[in-house]
Amino acid sequence: MAEYCYVHVPFCRSICGYCDFQRAGYSEILADKWLDALEIEIQNREISDHLKTIYLGGGTPSCLKMSQLKRLLQLLEPYSKHVIEYTMEMNPESCNDDVVRLASEFGVNRVSLGVQTFDDELLKMMNRRHTSQMIKEAIHTLNLYGITNISVDAMYSLPTQTMEQWLNTLKQCTELPVTHLSMYSLTIEPGSAFARQHLEALDSETEADMYEAAIEYLESQGFEQYEISSFSKSGFQSLHNKAYWHYEDFIGLGLGASGKENHQRYDHVRGFHHYLDNPLKLELISLTEEDEMFEMLMMGLRLKEGMSLELFYKRFHHKFEEVYAVPLKKCLDRKWIVIDQGKIKATNRGFEILNTVLEEFI
Ligand code: SF4
Repeated sequence: MAEYCYVHVPFCRSICGYCDFQRAGYSEILADKWLDALEIEIQNREISDHLKTIYLGGGTPSCLKMSQLKRLLQLLEPYSKHVIEYTMEMNPESCNDDVVRLASEFGVNRVSLGVQTFDDELLKMMNRRHTSQMIKEAIHTLNLYGITNISVDAMYSLPTQTMEQWLNTLKQCTELPVTHLSMYSLTIEPGSAFARQHLEALDSETEADMYEAAIEYLESQGFEQYEISSFSKSGFQSLHNKAYWHYEDFIGLGLGASGKENHQRYDHVRGFHHYLDNPLKLELISLTEEDEMFEMLMMGLRLKEGMSLELFYKRFHHKFEEVYAVPLKKCLDRKWIVIDQGKIKATNRGFEILNTVLEEFI
């Protein structure tokens, strides 16, 4: 049974300019109905009571009314007893005393904070509800209630963003007591407000420069890059996210959540009315052994440490070196990947062109 659990909270108080996630503007009535449906789902899905991680994502879990957040945490309580890492996503404006106290009472011990940038003008342009000052206050509040494992999300390649603004965001983040940073470059999704406003991300060369500069700066500040877009202080890599990259099974609960269990990937059927009518209805995709072998490689190569050849053999009873002999030789010859201490991993060059590397293995 899956030992990792993702729960999607599909509400936000306002919609960010770049967002195309599964979420809706918060409504108290709709959130109550969603919780009723989630309760039915939780009661009828097979959930391990020995979960290692729970990740409350969204949307914005911290935007729920206090009584609703409490109900959500209570629904998950029977499964959280053995959890090592219990993460909740929060946005700075709703990361207040009440929310943080409640979350910590229910065992949340890690918060992923949607910072995005420390530039107030860019925050406004993105239609974020917080200011740079609120980020500092949120982190202070988390510390006050003993939540010291704090991850921040930061975005680059934003319209008009300069290298100076980007580096300043990273500097401000690293000057605060944060343990983990995930960075994302902007993609303009069709249907987002940015697309409607004809806003564009920066050109690919500037984007690549920002990525490089971030790696250099973060590593100089003691944040080790352990995945393409993830950096952590020593001992603070995300267990939950690593489960995805190790291609472990995980259960996905709630409208907007995906999961992977028993050789099947699934999504909940999109749309509130579908979920409220039948929260157990999933769109299933069966994975062949070939799919799984490739997906394991695809996820594993995102990690700096690479993919374990022993684990590959344990799962599939085939040697990686035999299944992929031809592309493996090609990529080794081109120095895109190396095999080191029982792991296959991308070289720096391979990391830069990971999609091209993966194409060889399809
Ligand atoms: S807070 Fe997150 S999920 Fe909500 S609108 Fe903004 S980007 Fe989308």
